[in-house]
Amino acid sequence: EKTDFIAYLNHIIDRFAMNEHEGIKLKRELPKGQFYVWMDKDKMTQVLDNVISNAIKYSPEGGAIRFKIEKQKHQLLVSIADEGIGITYEKVDKIFERFYRADKARTRKLGGTGLGLAIARELVEAHHGKIWAKSKVGKGTTIFFTLPLMNQKRRVDQ
Ligand code: ATP
Ligand code: MG
Repeated sequence: EKTDFIAYLNHIIDRFAMNEHEGIKLKRELPKGQFYVWMDKDKMTQVLDNVISNAIKYSPEGGAIRFKIEKQKHQLLVSIADEGIGITYEKVDKIFERFYRADKARTRKLGGTGLGLAIARELVEAHHGKIWAKSKVGKGTTIFFTLPLMNQKRRVDQ
């Protein structure tokens, strides 16, 4: 369905903000206005739940998670940045593979199956978007994804 992605993301962040996540702060850098995306809301919510729950799970107490949306020509660029444990350069592209867990020793106690991001990738690609990650060990991880914007109404000069 046609969805204003800014209002939708605000709503998702509000839902996470209602729970106390060990003092983790949620910060927003979202543009003003309406930006329409054609999407399956349940599936997009699953993408965001997976990415945000990772950001929380792999973050220290009191860390911040920054949500950003940038409008590009024909798409939105969404990024979710944490200040968590990070992932090494060699492993950062593998995190989207099924059952892949970057640091078995370190992440075992945190639980999980290694499926969250594989599912997120499938769902973003089903929306004709791309998803990728940038990370620095000890500094944090940013997950980026794109979503095509719906055709904006153009005024025809006569
Ligand atoms: P599941 O999501 O199925 O419960 P999971 O969180 O281990 O388990 P994914 O969400 O697919 O699986 O993530 C894969 C791996 O990528 C994780 O095990 C972790 O090593 C790494 N990872 C993902 N997100 C982050 C992050 N924000 N910071 C650091 N490492 C991350
Ligand atoms: Mg996960």
